[in-house]
Amino acid sequence: MRRSITVFPKLSDKEVSAVVETRKQYARAFNMSAECLINNSSTSKRFLHRMQYKRIKEECPALPTGLIQCARDVAVEAVKTWNVKRTKLKQKHPKRTDRMKRPSMKEKCTMRYDVRTVTLRGSQLTFSTCDKRIKTIISIPEFFTERYSPSEGWKLKGANIGMDRKGRVFVNLIYECPDSAIEENNDGKIVGLDRGVYNIVTTSDGVHYGAKDARRVKRKYDHVRSELQEKGTRSARRRLKSISGCEKRFVRYQNHCISKKLANTDDVSVYVLDDLSFMNMLRLKGKSNKTMRKWLSNWSYSDLEFKLIYKCQKNGIRVEAVDARYTSQKCSVCKTIDKASRKGNRYICRHCGNRMHADVNAAINIRDSYITRAQKPGQAAVNQPYGWGATGKPETESVDKTLTSKPSGLS
Ligand SMILES: [Zn+2]
Repeated sequence: MRRSITVFPKLSDKEVSAVVETRKQYARAFNMSAECLINNSSTSKRFLHRMQYKRIKEECPALPTGLIQCARDVAVEAVKTWNVKRTKLKQKHPKRTDRMKRPSMKEKCTMRYDVRTVTLRGSQLTFSTCDKRIKTIISIPEFFTERYSPSEGWKLKGANIGMDRKGRVFVNLIYECPDSAIEENNDGKIVGLDRGVYNIVTTSDGVHYGAKDARRVKRKYDHVRSELQEKGTRSARRRLKSISGCEKRFVRYQNHCISKKLANTDDVSVYVLDDLSFMNMLRLKGKSNKTMRKWLSNWSYSDLEFKLIYKCQKNGIRVEAVDARYTSQKCSVCKTIDKASRKGNRYICRHCGNRMHADVNAAINIRDSYITRAQKPGQAAVNQPYGWGATGKPETESVDKTLTSKPSGLS
Protein backbone atom coordinates (compact mmCIF):
# COMPACT_ATOMS: atom_id res chain seq x y z
CA MET A 1 0.00 0.00 0.00
CA ARG A 2 1.34 3.40 -0.90
CA ARG A 3 0.46 6.86 0.26
CA SER A 4 2.01 10.19 -0.52
CA ILE A 5 2.50 13.57 1.09
CA THR A 6 3.20 16.72 -0.85
CA VAL A 7 5.53 19.34 0.58
CA PHE A 8 6.86 22.58 -0.84
CA PRO A 9 10.48 23.05 0.25
CA LYS A 10 11.89 26.57 0.34
CA LEU A 11 14.66 26.72 -2.26
CA SER A 12 16.96 29.48 -3.42
CA ASP A 13 16.86 30.71 -7.03
CA LYS A 14 20.01 28.80 -7.82
CA GLU A 15 18.54 25.58 -6.50
CA VAL A 16 15.34 26.09 -8.46
CA SER A 17 17.28 26.55 -11.67
CA ALA A 18 19.19 23.37 -10.87
CA VAL A 19 15.86 21.54 -10.63
CA VAL A 20 14.78 23.03 -13.97
CA GLU A 21 17.98 21.87 -15.66
CA THR A 22 17.71 18.42 -14.08
CA ARG A 23 14.18 18.10 -15.41
CA LYS A 24 15.35 18.83 -18.92
CA GLN A 25 18.06 16.22 -18.83
CA TYR A 26 15.80 13.72 -17.08
CA ALA A 27 13.23 14.05 -19.85
CA ARG A 28 15.97 13.54 -22.39
CA ALA A 29 17.23 10.40 -20.67
CA PHE A 30 13.66 9.11 -20.55
CA ASN A 31 13.04 9.80 -24.22
CA MET A 32 16.27 8.12 -25.28
CA SER A 33 15.46 5.07 -23.17
CA ALA A 34 11.89 4.76 -24.44
CA GLU A 35 13.02 5.17 -28.06
CA CYS A 36 15.63 2.48 -27.66
CA LEU A 37 13.16 0.05 -26.08
CA ILE A 38 10.56 0.52 -28.80
CA ASN A 39 13.05 0.26 -31.64
CA ASN A 40 14.41 -2.99 -30.26
CA SER A 41 10.99 -4.18 -29.04
CA SER A 42 12.31 -4.98 -25.62
CA THR A 43 11.28 -4.16 -22.07
CA SER A 44 14.41 -5.36 -20.32
CA LYS A 45 16.16 -2.99 -17.96
CA ARG A 46 19.44 -4.84 -18.31
CA PHE A 47 19.33 -4.69 -22.09
CA LEU A 48 18.54 -1.00 -21.97
CA HIS A 49 21.39 -0.33 -19.61
CA ARG A 50 23.87 -2.15 -21.85
CA MET A 51 22.66 -0.35 -24.96
CA GLN A 52 22.05 3.16 -23.78
CA TYR A 53 23.81 3.97 -20.54
CA LYS A 54 27.00 5.29 -22.11
CA ARG A 55 25.16 7.32 -24.71
CA ILE A 56 22.89 8.91 -22.13
CA LYS A 57 25.89 9.70 -19.98
CA GLU A 58 27.48 11.48 -22.97
CA GLU A 59 24.31 13.35 -23.87
CA CYS A 60 23.49 14.41 -20.32
CA PRO A 61 26.86 14.54 -18.59
CA ALA A 62 25.60 16.38 -15.52
CA LEU A 63 22.72 14.03 -14.76
CA PRO A 64 23.61 11.82 -11.78
CA THR A 65 23.75 8.10 -12.47
CA GLY A 66 21.01 7.47 -9.93
CA LEU A 67 18.62 9.66 -11.87
CA ILE A 68 19.51 8.02 -15.18
CA GLN A 69 18.46 4.76 -13.58
CA CYS A 70 15.22 6.29 -12.33
CA ALA A 71 14.44 7.61 -15.80
CA ARG A 72 15.23 4.19 -17.22
CA ASP A 73 12.83 2.45 -14.80
CA VAL A 74 10.06 4.90 -15.62
CA ALA A 75 10.69 4.40 -19.33
CA VAL A 76 10.46 0.61 -19.03
CA GLU A 77 7.11 0.93 -17.25
CA ALA A 78 5.80 3.43 -19.78
CA VAL A 79 6.75 1.20 -22.70
CA LYS A 80 5.10 -1.80 -21.05
CA THR A 81 1.84 0.10 -20.66
CA TRP A 82 2.15 1.38 -24.21
CA ASN A 83 2.60 -2.17 -25.50
CA VAL A 84 -0.55 -3.33 -23.74
CA LYS A 85 -2.55 -0.43 -25.15
CA ARG A 86 -1.16 -1.06 -28.59
CA THR A 87 -2.09 -4.73 -28.58
CA LYS A 88 -5.62 -3.80 -27.58
CA LEU A 89 -5.88 -1.20 -30.30
CA LYS A 90 -4.50 -3.61 -32.87
CA GLN A 91 -7.43 -5.94 -32.29
CA LYS A 92 -9.95 -3.18 -32.84
CA HIS A 93 -8.41 -0.78 -35.32
CA PRO A 94 -5.26 -2.25 -36.90
CA LYS A 95 -4.69 0.81 -39.04
CA ARG A 96 -4.51 3.19 -36.12
CA THR A 97 -1.59 1.46 -34.41
CA ASP A 98 0.98 3.20 -36.60
CA ARG A 99 -0.34 6.59 -35.66
CA MET A 100 -0.26 5.85 -31.93
CA LYS A 101 1.82 8.32 -29.99
CA ARG A 102 4.96 6.89 -28.50
CA PRO A 103 5.71 7.48 -24.83
CA SER A 104 7.65 10.67 -24.42
CA MET A 105 8.38 13.14 -21.68
CA LYS A 106 8.32 16.89 -21.95
CA GLU A 107 10.82 19.25 -20.36
CA LYS A 108 8.21 20.18 -17.79
CA CYS A 109 8.00 16.69 -16.40
CA THR A 110 7.78 15.38 -12.90
CA MET A 111 10.80 13.30 -11.98
CA ARG A 112 10.63 10.09 -10.06
CA TYR A 113 13.30 9.63 -7.41
CA ASP A 114 14.15 6.42 -5.63
CA VAL A 115 15.62 5.85 -2.17
CA ARG A 116 19.15 6.44 -3.45
CA THR A 117 18.42 9.82 -4.95
CA VAL A 118 16.19 11.20 -2.21
CA THR A 119 16.60 10.87 1.54
CA LEU A 120 14.69 12.16 4.53
CA ARG A 121 16.36 12.21 7.94
CA GLY A 122 14.17 13.79 10.54
CA SER A 123 13.11 16.92 8.74
CA GLN A 124 16.16 17.21 6.50
CA LEU A 125 15.37 16.37 2.90
CA THR A 126 18.15 15.83 0.38
CA PHE A 127 17.86 15.02 -3.30
CA SER A 128 20.24 14.93 -6.25
CA THR A 129 20.21 17.36 -9.13
CA CYS A 130 22.49 18.18 -12.03
CA ASP A 131 24.33 20.64 -9.87
CA LYS A 132 24.86 19.23 -6.42
CA ARG A 133 22.66 17.47 -3.94
CA ILE A 134 20.13 19.89 -2.49
CA LYS A 135 19.77 19.86 1.29
CA THR A 136 16.74 21.52 2.76
CA ILE A 137 14.61 21.50 5.89
CA ILE A 138 10.94 20.68 5.40
CA SER A 139 8.11 20.56 7.85
CA ILE A 140 5.75 17.60 7.71
CA PRO A 141 2.52 18.05 9.66
CA GLU A 142 2.30 15.94 12.78
CA PHE A 143 -0.81 14.27 11.43
CA PHE A 144 1.25 12.56 8.74
CA THR A 145 4.23 11.65 10.89
CA GLU A 146 1.85 9.85 13.22
CA ARG A 147 -0.07 8.17 10.46
CA TYR A 148 2.93 6.98 8.45
CA SER A 149 5.16 6.06 11.38
CA PRO A 150 7.94 3.48 10.83
CA SER A 151 6.68 1.49 13.80
CA GLU A 152 3.61 0.55 11.76
CA GLY A 153 5.69 -0.62 8.84
CA TRP A 154 5.70 2.56 6.77
CA LYS A 155 8.89 3.36 4.86
CA LEU A 156 9.89 6.13 2.51
CA LYS A 157 9.93 4.56 -0.92
CA GLY A 158 10.94 7.52 -3.04
CA ALA A 159 9.56 10.81 -4.24
CA ASN A 160 8.18 12.62 -7.24
CA ILE A 161 9.74 16.01 -7.73
CA GLY A 162 8.45 18.61 -10.13
CA MET A 163 7.14 22.12 -10.41
CA ASP A 164 3.58 23.33 -10.29
CA ARG A 165 2.00 25.98 -12.49
CA LYS A 166 3.13 28.77 -10.20
CA GLY A 167 6.76 27.68 -10.56
CA ARG A 168 7.09 26.27 -7.06
CA VAL A 169 9.11 23.10 -6.58
CA PHE A 170 7.04 20.38 -4.98
CA VAL A 171 8.17 17.11 -3.46
CA ASN A 172 5.71 14.28 -3.36
CA LEU A 173 7.02 11.88 -0.72
CA ILE A 174 5.91 8.30 -1.26
CA TYR A 175 5.49 6.04 1.73
CA GLU A 176 4.97 2.34 1.44
CA CYS A 177 3.70 -0.26 3.82
CA PRO A 178 3.69 -4.00 3.02
CA ASP A 179 0.23 -5.36 2.20
CA SER A 180 0.73 -8.10 4.76
CA ALA A 181 0.63 -5.46 7.48
CA ILE A 182 -3.04 -4.85 6.69
CA GLU A 183 -5.51 -7.22 8.20
CA GLU A 184 -8.11 -8.36 5.72
CA ASN A 185 -11.57 -8.13 7.14
CA ASN A 186 -13.13 -11.48 6.29
CA ASP A 187 -16.08 -11.87 8.59
CA GLY A 188 -18.07 -8.86 7.53
CA LYS A 189 -20.90 -8.89 5.06
CA ILE A 190 -20.93 -8.38 1.31
CA VAL A 191 -22.52 -5.14 0.18
CA GLY A 192 -23.52 -4.26 -3.36
CA LEU A 193 -23.26 -0.69 -4.59
CA ASP A 194 -25.30 0.76 -7.40
CA ARG A 195 -24.15 3.97 -8.98
CA GLY A 196 -26.77 6.12 -10.58
CA VAL A 197 -27.82 9.55 -11.62
CA TYR A 198 -30.33 10.43 -8.90
CA ASN A 199 -28.46 8.76 -6.11
CA ILE A 200 -24.71 8.75 -6.52
CA VAL A 201 -24.47 5.50 -4.63
CA THR A 202 -27.11 3.17 -3.21
CA THR A 203 -26.10 0.24 -1.05
CA SER A 204 -27.88 -3.10 -0.98
CA ASP A 205 -28.71 -2.34 2.66
CA GLY A 206 -30.91 0.48 1.46
CA VAL A 207 -28.71 3.48 2.24
CA HIS A 208 -28.82 6.24 -0.36
CA TYR A 209 -26.11 8.79 -0.98
CA GLY A 210 -28.04 11.41 -2.84
CA ALA A 211 -26.89 13.55 -5.70
CA LYS A 212 -29.19 16.43 -4.90
CA ASP A 213 -26.38 18.84 -4.06
CA ALA A 214 -24.29 17.64 -6.95
CA ARG A 215 -27.15 18.22 -9.37
CA ARG A 216 -27.85 21.64 -7.96
CA VAL A 217 -24.21 22.67 -8.36
CA LYS A 218 -24.05 21.17 -11.82
CA ARG A 219 -27.19 22.98 -12.90
CA LYS A 220 -25.82 26.22 -11.59
CA TYR A 221 -22.54 25.89 -13.42
CA ASP A 222 -24.22 24.65 -16.59
CA HIS A 223 -26.30 27.82 -16.56
CA VAL A 224 -23.37 30.13 -15.87
CA ARG A 225 -21.33 28.36 -18.50
CA SER A 226 -23.89 28.72 -21.23
CA GLU A 227 -24.29 32.43 -20.47
CA LEU A 228 -20.56 32.99 -20.56
CA GLN A 229 -20.11 31.04 -23.76
CA GLU A 230 -22.71 33.23 -25.39
CA LYS A 231 -20.83 36.36 -24.39
CA GLY A 232 -17.50 35.05 -25.62
CA THR A 233 -15.41 37.99 -24.47
CA ARG A 234 -11.93 37.57 -23.12
CA SER A 235 -12.92 37.97 -19.51
CA ALA A 236 -15.78 35.53 -20.06
CA ARG A 237 -13.29 32.95 -21.25
CA ARG A 238 -11.15 33.57 -18.20
CA ARG A 239 -14.16 33.11 -15.95
CA LEU A 240 -15.09 29.91 -17.77
CA LYS A 241 -11.68 28.49 -17.07
CA SER A 242 -11.87 29.26 -13.40
CA ILE A 243 -15.33 27.81 -12.88
CA SER A 244 -14.40 24.55 -14.57
CA GLY A 245 -12.11 24.01 -11.60
CA CYS A 246 -14.83 24.86 -9.07
CA GLU A 247 -17.22 22.21 -10.27
CA LYS A 248 -14.54 19.55 -10.38
CA ARG A 249 -13.40 20.37 -6.88
CA PHE A 250 -16.95 20.15 -5.56
CA VAL A 251 -17.52 16.71 -7.08
CA ARG A 252 -14.17 15.54 -5.83
CA TYR A 253 -14.97 16.74 -2.33
CA GLN A 254 -18.28 14.96 -2.40
CA ASN A 255 -16.71 11.75 -3.61
CA HIS A 256 -14.23 11.98 -0.76
CA CYS A 257 -17.07 12.24 1.76
CA ILE A 258 -19.05 9.33 0.34
CA SER A 259 -16.09 7.01 -0.06
CA LYS A 260 -14.89 7.81 3.44
CA LYS A 261 -18.27 6.96 4.93
CA LEU A 262 -18.41 3.71 2.98
CA ALA A 263 -14.85 2.71 3.85
CA ASN A 264 -15.37 3.37 7.55
CA THR A 265 -18.41 1.12 7.82
CA ASP A 266 -17.39 -1.54 10.34
CA ASP A 267 -19.04 -4.80 9.44
CA VAL A 268 -18.29 -4.92 5.70
CA SER A 269 -15.69 -7.17 4.11
CA VAL A 270 -16.44 -6.77 0.40
CA TYR A 271 -17.97 -3.99 -1.67
CA VAL A 272 -19.27 -5.04 -5.05
CA LEU A 273 -19.47 -2.48 -7.83
CA ASP A 274 -20.96 -2.59 -11.28
CA ASP A 275 -18.17 -2.90 -13.80
CA LEU A 276 -18.51 0.03 -16.13
CA SER A 277 -16.18 -1.45 -18.72
CA PHE A 278 -19.07 -3.66 -19.84
CA MET A 279 -21.06 -0.52 -20.47
CA ASN A 280 -18.17 0.90 -22.39
CA MET A 281 -18.22 -2.17 -24.58
CA LEU A 282 -21.85 -1.51 -25.41
CA ARG A 283 -20.98 2.06 -26.22
CA LEU A 284 -18.32 0.97 -28.67
CA LYS A 285 -20.86 -1.28 -30.35
CA GLY A 286 -23.20 1.69 -30.65
CA LYS A 287 -25.84 0.13 -28.43
CA SER A 288 -26.31 3.01 -26.07
CA ASN A 289 -28.68 5.89 -25.86
CA LYS A 290 -28.11 9.52 -25.06
CA THR A 291 -28.66 9.30 -21.30
CA MET A 292 -26.28 6.43 -21.02
CA ARG A 293 -23.58 8.18 -23.00
CA LYS A 294 -23.92 11.25 -20.87
CA TRP A 295 -23.71 9.12 -17.80
CA LEU A 296 -20.66 7.25 -18.97
CA SER A 297 -18.81 10.37 -19.92
CA ASN A 298 -19.16 11.53 -16.33
CA TRP A 299 -15.68 11.08 -14.94
CA SER A 300 -16.89 11.41 -11.35
CA TYR A 301 -17.95 7.74 -11.29
CA SER A 302 -14.46 6.50 -11.92
CA ASP A 303 -13.15 9.09 -9.50
CA LEU A 304 -15.44 7.74 -6.79
CA GLU A 305 -14.35 4.21 -7.58
CA PHE A 306 -10.70 5.19 -7.32
CA LYS A 307 -11.21 6.90 -3.97
CA LEU A 308 -13.30 4.05 -2.60
CA ILE A 309 -10.64 1.50 -3.54
CA TYR A 310 -7.79 3.26 -1.82
CA LYS A 311 -9.74 4.06 1.31
CA CYS A 312 -11.11 0.54 1.62
CA GLN A 313 -7.68 -0.96 1.17
CA LYS A 314 -6.52 0.63 4.40
CA ASN A 315 -9.40 -0.91 6.32
CA GLY A 316 -8.98 -4.35 4.80
CA ILE A 317 -12.15 -4.16 2.72
CA ARG A 318 -11.99 -5.59 -0.78
CA VAL A 319 -13.64 -3.92 -3.76
CA GLU A 320 -14.83 -6.22 -6.52
CA ALA A 321 -16.54 -5.59 -9.83
CA VAL A 322 -19.23 -7.58 -11.59
CA ASP A 323 -21.01 -7.46 -14.94
CA ALA A 324 -23.58 -4.69 -14.67
CA ARG A 325 -25.96 -5.78 -17.42
CA TYR A 326 -29.65 -6.09 -16.53
CA THR A 327 -29.07 -5.28 -12.85
CA SER A 328 -31.69 -2.57 -12.98
CA GLN A 329 -34.25 -4.67 -14.85
CA LYS A 330 -33.95 -7.87 -12.88
CA CYS A 331 -36.13 -8.60 -9.86
CA SER A 332 -33.96 -9.24 -6.84
CA VAL A 333 -36.41 -11.77 -5.41
CA CYS A 334 -37.55 -13.97 -8.31
CA LYS A 335 -34.71 -13.04 -10.70
CA THR A 336 -37.05 -12.40 -13.65
CA ILE A 337 -35.72 -9.86 -16.12
CA ASP A 338 -38.51 -7.55 -17.15
CA LYS A 339 -37.95 -4.03 -18.30
CA ALA A 340 -41.59 -3.06 -17.66
CA SER A 341 -41.30 -3.75 -13.93
CA ARG A 342 -39.25 -0.64 -13.42
CA LYS A 343 -41.08 2.64 -13.24
CA GLY A 344 -38.96 5.64 -12.41
CA ASN A 345 -37.35 4.95 -9.10
CA ARG A 346 -39.81 2.23 -8.12
CA TYR A 347 -39.39 -1.40 -8.93
CA ILE A 348 -42.64 -3.35 -8.84
CA CYS A 349 -42.17 -6.89 -10.04
CA ARG A 350 -44.93 -7.99 -12.42
CA HIS A 351 -44.33 -11.64 -11.58
CA CYS A 352 -43.96 -11.91 -7.81
CA GLY A 353 -45.19 -8.53 -6.69
CA ASN A 354 -41.94 -7.49 -5.02
CA ARG A 355 -41.93 -3.74 -4.38
CA MET A 356 -38.69 -1.91 -3.83
CA HIS A 357 -36.70 1.20 -4.58
CA ALA A 358 -35.21 0.58 -8.01
CA ASP A 359 -31.67 1.45 -6.97
CA VAL A 360 -31.77 -0.82 -3.92
CA ASN A 361 -33.08 -3.58 -6.16
CA ALA A 362 -30.14 -3.05 -8.52
CA ALA A 363 -27.65 -2.99 -5.63
CA ILE A 364 -28.99 -6.30 -4.34
CA ASN A 365 -28.66 -7.79 -7.82
CA ILE A 366 -25.07 -6.60 -8.01
CA ARG A 367 -24.33 -8.18 -4.64
CA ASP A 368 -26.04 -11.45 -5.60
CA SER A 369 -24.25 -11.79 -8.90
CA TYR A 370 -20.95 -11.49 -7.05
CA ILE A 371 -22.01 -14.19 -4.59
CA THR A 372 -23.10 -16.58 -7.36
CA ARG A 373 -19.85 -15.99 -9.21
CA ALA A 374 -17.80 -16.68 -6.10
CA GLN A 375 -19.67 -19.94 -5.49
CA LYS A 376 -19.24 -21.33 -9.01
CA PRO A 377 -16.21 -23.60 -8.94
CA GLY A 378 -13.71 -23.57 -11.75
CA GLN A 379 -14.68 -20.18 -13.02
CA ALA A 380 -12.46 -17.19 -12.61
CA ALA A 381 -14.28 -17.20 -9.30
CA VAL A 382 -13.32 -14.34 -7.09
CA ASN A 383 -11.41 -12.52 -9.72
CA GLN A 384 -8.32 -10.46 -9.15
CA PRO A 385 -9.11 -8.22 -6.23
CA TYR A 386 -10.16 -5.35 -8.35
CA GLY A 387 -7.90 -2.44 -7.70
CA TRP A 388 -5.99 -4.22 -4.98
CA GLY A 389 -2.87 -3.37 -6.90
CA ALA A 390 -3.95 0.20 -7.28
CA THR A 391 -0.97 1.37 -5.37
CA GLY A 392 1.52 -0.58 -7.37
CA LYS A 393 2.46 -4.18 -6.81
CA PRO A 394 5.44 -5.76 -8.57
CA GLU A 395 5.55 -5.12 -12.28
CA THR A 396 4.87 -8.72 -13.16
CA GLU A 397 1.17 -8.13 -12.64
CA SER A 398 -1.02 -7.71 -15.67
CA VAL A 399 -1.41 -4.06 -16.40
CA ASP A 400 -4.88 -4.08 -17.82
CA LYS A 401 -6.92 -5.25 -14.86
CA THR A 402 -5.42 -3.11 -12.14
CA LEU A 403 -5.94 0.57 -11.82
CA THR A 404 -2.48 2.01 -11.86
CA SER A 405 -3.26 5.62 -12.44
CA LYS A 406 -5.90 8.17 -11.84
CA PRO A 407 -9.01 7.74 -13.90
CA SER A 408 -8.80 9.59 -17.16
CA GLY A 409 -10.42 12.95 -17.19
CA LEU A 410 -8.82 13.94 -13.92
CA SER A 411 -6.22 16.48 -14.72
ZN1 LIG B 1 -40.08 -10.74 -8.83
